Amino acid sequence: MTTWQCVKSCGACCYLNPEERPDLDRYLTPDQLQLYLSLIGADGWCIHYDASDRRCRIYSTRPDFCRVTAATFEAMFDLDPADLNDFAIDCCQQHIGDRYGEESPEMARFNQAVGVSPGEEPLSL
Ligand code: SF4
Ligand code: SF4
Repeated sequence: MTTWQCVKSCGACCYLNPEERPDLDRYLTPDQLQLYLSLIGADGWCIHYDASDRRCRIYSTRPDFCRVTAATFEAMFDLDPADLNDFAIDCCQQHIGDRYGEESPEMARFNQAVGVSPGEEPLSL
């Protein structure tokens, strides 16, 4: 049994470099895409990301596309709400793997928090 959650001191999904997300225009509206692009700093990280403690400086007012909810994922990916848990875990594992590595402490911490056993294959739908 796995249960998605965001773990503290991660921030992997706040690396917004579009070279790593080539399909942005397929799931963001034009307005969302414009906002997304406006958030990208020179280093590829979101301008609202505080790298010193790996957290969002505007968490309570962050854009919809930063929120893991059934409604936002249904709107962006046409995702059945029943699949949100596995999909969100898979997304986080991809971001964490890209940023910190498959064998990183961040990946181990995330997997432990959501209930993925060590050595278990990453989830995918
Ligand atoms: S990648 Fe997942 S665990 Fe890491 S900050 Fe983003 S939502 Fe949280
Ligand atoms: S607005 Fe916040 S949650 Fe969204 S990408 Fe930027 S730092 Fe991350």
